[in-house]
Amino acid sequence: MKTVVLKFGGTSVGSIDRIKKICKIIAFYKKKRNKVVVISSAMSGVTNELVKKSKSISNNFDKAEYDALLSTGEQVSCALIAGRLNHIGLKSRSWMSWQLPIVTEGPYSSSRISRVVVKELNNYLRQGGIPVITGFQGINNKFRLTTIGRSGSDATAIMLAKFIKAEDCIIYTDVDGVYTADPKQYKKAKKISKIYYDEMLEMASLGSKVMQPTSVQDAKLNNIDIKVKSSFILRPGTLITGSKKNFSDQIITGISSTKNDAKITIVGVKDKPGVAASIFKPLSNNLINVDMVVQNISQNGQDTDLTFTIKSDDLKKTEKLIQQNRNITYKKLTFDKNVSKVSIIGVGMITTPGITFRMFQALASKKINILVISTSEIKISVLISSKNVKKAIAALHKEFNLN
Ligand code: ADP
Ligand code: ASP
Ligand code: MG
Repeated sequence: MKTVVLKFGGTSVGSIDRIKKICKIIAFYKKKRNKVVVISSAMSGVTNELVKKSKSISNNFDKAEYDALLSTGEQVSCALIAGRLNHIGLKSRSWMSWQLPIVTEGPYSSSRISRVVVKELNNYLRQGGIPVITGFQGINNKFRLTTIGRSGSDATAIMLAKFIKAEDCIIYTDVDGVYTADPKQYKKAKKISKIYYDEMLEMASLGSKVMQPTSVQDAKLNNIDIKVKSSFILRPGTLITGSKKNFSDQIITGISSTKNDAKITIVGVKDKPGVAASIFKPLSNNLINVDMVVQNISQNGQDTDLTFTIKSDDLKKTEKLIQQNRNITYKKLTFDKNVSKVSIIGVGMITTPGITFRMFQALASKKINILVISTSEIKISVLISSKNVKKAIAALHKEFNLN
């Protein structure tokens, strides 16, 4: 008997009607004589509402209470799923993370799952039951509820698959797989049938929200194949794997883009050792994530310009921290709130020269100005004006024959 882990995202359980539909998918796997474990997200929009509520109570909401609050959405969807499965004649019950428990480590809001106790689950599966488990949450060594980062139910599914030794882990979502670009943003995007962990990790980290980055990392570390499928239509999905079997010879696998980035330039900052560290230390202390960084070569040997990007939500705080920083002097601070990072990703890049040139030329031919560039072995990212993102994706899609 095979064990399958099925994870349903927010839109897949977004209404009573949707919950009834996904229960049919669960019943299908059960009928095929599998042991079925279900992980669910909160109904779509619920977690965002909870975030809003916490902000209207306090802009300094206690971190542990914040996780206790945010984890409530999953309890609702799981109980509704189990209730519906019972209604259609299947043995099922819900499990909150603390009831198993799912043990986490690390700070509130971005904990990582370290262990899942599966004894009770195994007993229940042996009796033919379908456990429905809350994604996105766990408990820490203080017995407090924790959450594992937004979109974290993906990671719960993968860690459950690891600890229960499942043969299959299927992520059911509102698109029928991983596409060459976000299909909602670019209609000509094509479905990818197979993608390497490393490529998926880059795509996820660079803005393709179909999979949460941590979950892909967990899958890679534990060598767990992931299937991404639609809960709306019956179609083959995408396999995320480390196996080299049956891959196409595409150089570029996909294109990702970000939203809500901001660029900051500190003009005329002293060019001496330790300046960059002095600038970034207070940002790091305030948990502000700095992404792309460029420093111009000093023209006069005395001062230079430093440009970096952050999330726009952090802009006000960053501006304040730089202005209050007594360890640096500079002439001017400039900001641009409307920038996005567009990246091309593919392991084929390692063995194919000239990709950077082709990317830049494709953007130049559409008169798209590149503000900042960063590269790794399997990706090239450029920062451009947000208004040009769609045009850039189309040009790159064409240049690298992804259409
Ligand atoms: P869920 O609620 O099921 O977890 P998400 O909203 O987290 O779903 O992820 C699915 C969404 O990811 C899709 O609706 C799609 O718009 C978006 N997306 C972004 N990039 C891609 C991509 N390359 N391939 C597929 N979907 C993508
Ligand atoms: N409900 C959580 C969120 O909205 C977790 C998830 O959907 O995976 O982030
Ligand atoms: Mg998701």
